[in-house]
Amino acid sequence: MTDYARQEHREFVAASRAALSDGKLQLALVRLTSTLTAANRRGYDSLPESAQVREQARQIKLRTLANLPRYLEQLEESVRSVGGFVHWADDARQACNIVCDIAWSHGVKRAVKAKSMTTEEIHLNAALESAGIEVTETDFGEFVIQLAKERPSHIVAPAVHHTRESIAGLLSNHLGEPVPDDAPTLAKTGRRILRQKFFAADMGITGVNFAVAETGTLVLVTNEGNGRLTTTWPRIHVAVMGMEKVIPRWRDLPVFLKLLARAATGHPLSVYTSLITGPARNGDLDGPEELHLVILDNGRSKVLASPFRESLACIRCGACLNACPVYRRIGGHAYGGIYSGPIGSVLTPLYSDISHNPHLPHASSLCGACQAACPVKINIPHMLIGLRELQHEKKRNFWEDLAYGLARRVLQRPWLYRLMGRLLRWTLRPLSRDGWCCRLPGPVAGWTQSRDFPAPTRRSFRQLWKREMKR
Ligand code: SF4
Repeated sequence: MTDYARQEHREFVAASRAALSDGKLQLALVRLTSTLTAANRRGYDSLPESAQVREQARQIKLRTLANLPRYLEQLEESVRSVGGFVHWADDARQACNIVCDIAWSHGVKRAVKAKSMTTEEIHLNAALESAGIEVTETDFGEFVIQLAKERPSHIVAPAVHHTRESIAGLLSNHLGEPVPDDAPTLAKTGRRILRQKFFAADMGITGVNFAVAETGTLVLVTNEGNGRLTTTWPRIHVAVMGMEKVIPRWRDLPVFLKLLARAATGHPLSVYTSLITGPARNGDLDGPEELHLVILDNGRSKVLASPFRESLACIRCGACLNACPVYRRIGGHAYGGIYSGPIGSVLTPLYSDISHNPHLPHASSLCGACQAACPVKINIPHMLIGLRELQHEKKRNFWEDLAYGLARRVLQRPWLYRLMGRLLRWTLRPLSRDGWCCRLPGPVAGWTQSRDFPAPTRRSFRQLWKREMKR
């Protein structure tokens, strides 16, 4: 492990510990994840053919990824044919430069932004601010974390770690006047601030949920309506899209729309689904004068060519976060990257460098709840194991090799397995009380740091089976 990786690992453990001892955060996480997990199940149940639709969505995504260059070229052509501009960005810096250049060349001083994980990934706000452009998040949760100078802690609920009181405090500081902490006042205050930002903005920035290659249509799915104001009021709209967001045909879109909101919040559809095909035309009541699409790679080509390609099928619904027993306890910030939860544990090391994020593939119990909740059935546990294997190949661990080598020898010899079982029972029994070992000794002590280990039974399964057979 490099020093940098060791430091990251220490930070992950420290952030997880801090999250576990934060009572308010624990309450917020339990409330959010339990509500959304139940909603996810209800959402799938409300669609009688959900199993087929999920499989269909998965197949569309996998087929698209297998032919990604072709669909991206088709998308570029379609967007240009309806009057839009298309830019290609290899990495985060290039994407930020493109957006800043568009802003400079149009004399943009203020921009508004709809919620977008891709723009978080490239740290666009920081780039715009250092270029002298004021940028305001317009999703209320994102606006709150912008005021708090934090990262989102959940894909669909970025400010889940905040309480009404902390939000009121942030708004009060921002306005320089006290803001009461009841929900209607907070919402009204947020709306009052953001309305002015919309009216003053020259540029609206969004992500893209889906981009239809055959028509050049950019699809935005939001719950607050801020996406519509962001894309219609300012004179320039810039959409930043991860290259995996393209879908081939118009008729593929309903398959994903049926699933996205159901998986995320249990609703049949999100409140707002905006379909944007080019800038405003003559006679249109609203819409931007110019539309720019920035197609971002930032490590995705590398993933596309790897055994982890399936991870690019993610439609960012957040369902795997809600289902994950690790995320449910430590929340999003402990993961250290923009993407958190099970899919974050796959994407963050893949987009950057596996050796920089050694803890992430291990931040999972591999229970499979993430895959069960995922609308496109991404096999996240399989990929986490694959990442662990890669880590192991890159840097072999003497003690791990020794432990697995010994385990192999024991498992190959039934007499040795029986002997070891007996030894283990003798060793653990004195450490057990009321059926549980609360503190294991030596190198396995970590097991019992936050949970108990079941005490061994008096007789082994084999002994019980033998006795049963004799009867
Ligand atoms: S991996 Fe699946 S469940 Fe997780 S955010 Fe992506 S689409 Fe949703």
